[in-house]
Amino acid sequence: MSSLDDELSRRLEDLDRQVLRRRLRNVESPQQPQMRVGGHDLVNFSSNDYLGLATHPRLKEALIEGTTRFGVGAGASRLICGNLEAHRELEDSLARFKATDAALTFSTGYATALGTVCSLVSQDDIVILDRLVHASIIDAARLSRATLRVFGHNDMEQLEAHLQWAEKARRKADGTAGQVLVVTESVFSMDGDLAPIRNLVELKECYGAWLMVDEAHGTGLFGTHRRGVVEAMEMTGMVEIQMGTLGKALGVSGGYIAGSRVLIDWLINRARSFIFSTAPPPAVAWAAREAVRLVESEEGESLRQQLWSRVNRVKEAVVSAGWTLPAVQSPILPILVGNEEAALKLASRLQDEGFLIPAIRYPTVPRGEARLRLTVNASHTIEQIERLGRCLQSTRADFA
Ligand SMILES: *Cc1c(COP(=O)(O)O)cnc(C)c1O
Repeated sequence: MSSLDDELSRRLEDLDRQVLRRRLRNVESPQQPQMRVGGHDLVNFSSNDYLGLATHPRLKEALIEGTTRFGVGAGASRLICGNLEAHRELEDSLARFKATDAALTFSTGYATALGTVCSLVSQDDIVILDRLVHASIIDAARLSRATLRVFGHNDMEQLEAHLQWAEKARRKADGTAGQVLVVTESVFSMDGDLAPIRNLVELKECYGAWLMVDEAHGTGLFGTHRRGVVEAMEMTGMVEIQMGTLGKALGVSGGYIAGSRVLIDWLINRARSFIFSTAPPPAVAWAAREAVRLVESEEGESLRQQLWSRVNRVKEAVVSAGWTLPAVQSPILPILVGNEEAALKLASRLQDEGFLIPAIRYPTVPRGEARLRLTVNASHTIEQIERLGRCLQSTRADFA
């Protein structure tokens, strides 16, 4: 064995000992509530495809139509010769949907966070993050080389203290001021709770900071027009940088920023993950455009309503089985277990009973906060939910 393999085997054994080793799970069916995994039929309570769009016939057709019209690859970065009609149409649809001047799409949400944060701030600036933001935002903040401050989850007092500190710190020796960027999520991906967008807007206005909100799990689900939590909290126009993904409720793949024309022009010029990366396949953009249209339509509203009614059924089922759920208002329902090993055991018991609800462990969540992350889909059936309730009830006693 090479010395690299030697060393990596040692590290993997270490992960094994800590019950933190991860392995890929092979899925043998499409992404839908009923899945075939490792030869077993499982009801999937783990996907972020909240509205069931990943297998929607209209989106499948749009992907095929996009391939026929535009071919497969984009051939180059958007700035060279890859800016095809499908990308432009998707961005126009996104801007209209989000009620902003403009929008820009990236290959993934991860690339969106990296490119955007790093183009907005650098070493003379300050980035302030909620403790629970997604890894893509943490990595982006680190890569930007800005000074980093973290506030306790949704702790507005601590955010204000950081903003006060930043106000003093940002005046540099030469009298010019650095910028302050606050970044948070609208729906927290592992906890399912919401950020207090109104308070965040008030604070950033008061201290002259910029605000970036990642709506990865909010888009399509919240607000009158299903734009996200920023809309639901009546703060459209007050958040300078709205981020989102196309691979969760929208069912496709990619990430985007919605904001002013100037912001988008700046990103086109400075976001390295946009500039130095081949444009996403145009057919994927074409399918994502169809997803935006679908979410905007009456069908989007009825799917959203169906999702919330399912979420309420699942919450009732979990609680009446004797498990505690935090007071979340989203389709992300974390069943907190704590110990990594116990979380794994519970997940594997549920899998034996026919349910896919994975244990989420460090480093995705802090050590000792392992949980089952249950997510609800608009196309879950009542029968599937009731069966889950019975199964959670029968396992409860073993995990007291
Ligand atoms: C999934 C996710 C991302 C990354 O998006 P991808 O398109 O999967 O790369 C970013 N932020 C949050 C909060 C997410 O949940």
